[in-house]
Amino acid sequence: MRKILCLICCLVLLAGCGKAPESARQTVFAMNTAMSITVYGDNCEEYAAAACAEINRLSHLWSATEEDSELYRLNSEKKLTVSAETAELIAFASEMNTKTNGALDITLYPVLREWGFTTGEYKIPDSERISVLLSEREAPIISGGEVTLSEKTELDFGAVAKGYAGDFLCELLRERGVSSALLDLGGNIQLIGSKPDGKPWKLGIKNPNGEGNIAVLSIEDCAVVTSGDYERYFVGDDGECYCHIIDPKTGAPARSGLSSVTVIGDEGKICDALSTALFVMGEKAAVEYWRENGDFEMLLVSSDGRLAATGGLVENLEAAAEIRVIE
Ligand code: ADP
Ligand code: MG
Repeated sequence: MRKILCLICCLVLLAGCGKAPESARQTVFAMNTAMSITVYGDNCEEYAAAACAEINRLSHLWSATEEDSELYRLNSEKKLTVSAETAELIAFASEMNTKTNGALDITLYPVLREWGFTTGEYKIPDSERISVLLSEREAPIISGGEVTLSEKTELDFGAVAKGYAGDFLCELLRERGVSSALLDLGGNIQLIGSKPDGKPWKLGIKNPNGEGNIAVLSIEDCAVVTSGDYERYFVGDDGECYCHIIDPKTGAPARSGLSSVTVIGDEGKICDALSTALFVMGEKAAVEYWRENGDFEMLLVSSDGRLAATGGLVENLEAAAEIRVIE
């Protein structure tokens, strides 16, 4: 009997040899975008499902439009004791607002509404109305778990929620021992480790001014977040394109000469906040910001198709076009 058991064990082991590790891919629609979570290794189905449940939970907290979300309640009630996650997110966004000299600003919801970005009913608003909306907003006040907004202030987490959520998901998966996973949260990519075969992941960076990819990144264990003017925009009656990233100084869609900004770093929340902020700032200010802060890499694509990348990235980047190295 023991011999037979041994034989069965050996056969099972042999059958396991050379097989690709288990993998599970689950898709979910959350935060107004399609997301996919791919986990490799033991219990991957269970862990991918847990990650999807977590993204649904966070999406429900941070949706500006779902009527029973925490953010919706905060925007309408103006004073609310919020979850620790939401308080943390607001505190982080406020810190990034200061660091980016106002380029990242989560108080633009009334301005986004006026342009129709909250409903899809786009229009070019009256510029005086936009000036009024800009002047009425105030920074949120956080005290313990309680957040207070002034009467006319409404928040929108569109520029930071996916990155923040990505960090939570990575933490959840790492705590369970996952060493290889790819999270695609609507274009925000977060990577745990390398591919299961030990090689780096290859990520295509979309060409914002045309078809296909403009570059391919070989990379592991980091977050890669792109903001651009090519995915959510409308063409106004004047024939001009208006994208969903607003310059808080003007209240109008940012036109800084960049078509996309990809930020690569350890944390999704920083990459997400910076991809939006650097897009608003434009190439010159983005390069200055990187020189001063430098704990991330970036790839900038200009509206005229030029590529510029920070020095640490260049060797991991393949592109048909010439890449200017930012140093
Ligand atoms: P995406 O969500 O498409 O990945 P971003 O991370 O750049 O792109 O976020 C853009 C979203 O953030 C907009 O749809 C809007 O909800 C909000 N937003 C627009 N401009 C700003 C800004 N200057 N600061 C903070 N949030 C912004
Ligand atoms: Mg962002």
